[in-house]
Amino acid sequence: MKKQIAILGSTGSIGTQALQVIKEHPDQYEAYALTANNRVEDLINQAREFKPEVVVIANEDKYRQLKEALADLPIKVYAGSDALCQIVQESEVDMVLTAMVGYAGLRPTLKAIQAHKTIALANKETLVVAGDLVSRLALANGTPILPVDSEHSAVFQCLVGEADNAVEKIILTASGGPFRTYSIKQLATVTKEQALHHPNWHMGAKITIDSATMMNKGFEVIEARWLFGVEPSQIEVVVHPQSVIHSMVQFTDGVVKAQLGMPDMRIPIQYAFSYPDRLHASFPRLDFARCMELTFEQPDQTRFRNLSLAYEALRQGGNMPCIVNAANEVCVHAFLEDRVSFLGMSDIIARTMQRATFVTHPDYEDYVRTDTEARRIANELLGTKHKG
Ligand code: NDP
Ligand code: MG
Repeated sequence: MKKQIAILGSTGSIGTQALQVIKEHPDQYEAYALTANNRVEDLINQAREFKPEVVVIANEDKYRQLKEALADLPIKVYAGSDALCQIVQESEVDMVLTAMVGYAGLRPTLKAIQAHKTIALANKETLVVAGDLVSRLALANGTPILPVDSEHSAVFQCLVGEADNAVEKIILTASGGPFRTYSIKQLATVTKEQALHHPNWHMGAKITIDSATMMNKGFEVIEARWLFGVEPSQIEVVVHPQSVIHSMVQFTDGVVKAQLGMPDMRIPIQYAFSYPDRLHASFPRLDFARCMELTFEQPDQTRFRNLSLAYEALRQGGNMPCIVNAANEVCVHAFLEDRVSFLGMSDIIARTMQRATFVTHPDYEDYVRTDTEARRIANELLGTKHKG
């Protein structure tokens, strides 16, 4: 029986690499559902190649085009975000890969967990926004959440066979992004073109900007807190520009286990698909003979203020990480349209954190309200800044 995988966000960076993994193992995996937001041509081509049971285009304006292009194939075609929530629950689905970007991933992920579908989680925003709710629901439903994010996959792999052993510390590695060595003065004038040029990874635009500001690493700290049930004080970030060590775990005897590999997202995607097994992969290998140098630095939370804002949000708890996520999504969008500067993004996020309504024990409806309110505030702040 082939594992039936629903890929939410199949046209993106993670989605297309997941399809490469499926192509490597056609005897093991099948794409049951493919979904996109706008890139309808890409979705059509994927559907023709992988012949899923169902495709969903979130943007309903593109439905007709998709439906007509696939009319000769026995593929169900749906549109809209409610359809995403429905298809993840279908009885044939074994696993849901959440590879869509941003807050929009939360609702379908919750639906998939409730339907007892194993989650391969790339969409870290889900755990940033509502980590408490998501992990409680997963526990209550006995639904595994397997990490796809390379750092968390590394930690997860270090923890295999260590179930009874206490973790002292999780050490997340960070590449430092394209501006690792920039001064504050230089950071003040960096452009989106520079920010979109990541040294080690080719990813979607949003996470590439988050990597440049180090908000991505802040989000990964929050993600690790929920995936591995550790305290924020047990999660450390170390800058490791080569991105060869993907992350580490330190145990109570002081031993540190690390997972190394090429910076290639197909590896953690495949591990999430095949866990607890390892399958052969034809992807490139590390070559230690080629004089590899591994270096480490402390992250600078003054130059990369978003990292400290994320730590602060995690410390405050409640809906604060949800506020940070919403403000950040608004800021990244504005930065990509040249409506806010690189450093201006942190200002807007910090001010949104001060203004938005704090909720100590949020439920799902609180998160929805918080996301809307924080977006409104961040947009207002951007507007003022823009005019001023
Ligand atoms: P991309 O921007 O490349 O792809 C996003 C995918 O989600 C696309 O298929 C897009 O459709 C779809 N999508 C976007 N918005 C919506 C929406 N509102 N409703 C439904 N579908 C939507 O992103 P990445 O692949 O880079 O990242 C995906 C997730 O994985 C993010 O949460 C990111 O943080 C995480 N991640 C990514 C890594 C990477 O290497 N790329 C590494 C670790 C984590 P369309 O193409 O039509 O716009
Ligand atoms: Mg990562």
